[in-house]
Amino acid sequence: MSSVNSSSGSRDGITKQRGIPTRCNCGEAAALFTSKTVKNPGRLFHSCPMGSEKDKTYLFKWTDRSVVEEIEDFQELVDVLLIDNSQFQKTLTACETMLKRQESRIEEMEDVIGRCEEKTIECIRELRFIKALFVFCLVMFCMYLTYA
Ligand SMILES: [Zn+2]
Repeated sequence: MSSVNSSSGSRDGITKQRGIPTRCNCGEAAALFTSKTVKNPGRLFHSCPMGSEKDKTYLFKWTDRSVVEEIEDFQELVDVLLIDNSQFQKTLTACETMLKRQESRIEEMEDVIGRCEEKTIECIRELRFIKALFVFCLVMFCMYLTYA
């Protein structure tokens, strides 16, 4: 990622920008021009108002070269994104596996809770029966004491 859209200074004072330049070192905005020379007729270039192909002090850059750099940087960015995406996919798969494991654990716990509930209901039923039996025995004992 670090090389994308990076710029580095050079010895002749011109800031070398990757891709299409936006500004010259002198502060002027880069403008797009069409070459009218015999050597490069109709060839596009970005330049400072004071720039020329021979003078290295001011910005002058052929647009076809800038575009090639832009495409190279874009390709690099796409490669990085593809790697990031494959790593993201791996993480996602790991997360899904973990989630499924947790889901099966939750199901197991739900089963256990369900069994506990059944046992609790059974216990309550038995307790009610014992309570009724105790009350019955108490009543019988009282009747025995009263009428015997
Ligand atoms: Zn300039």
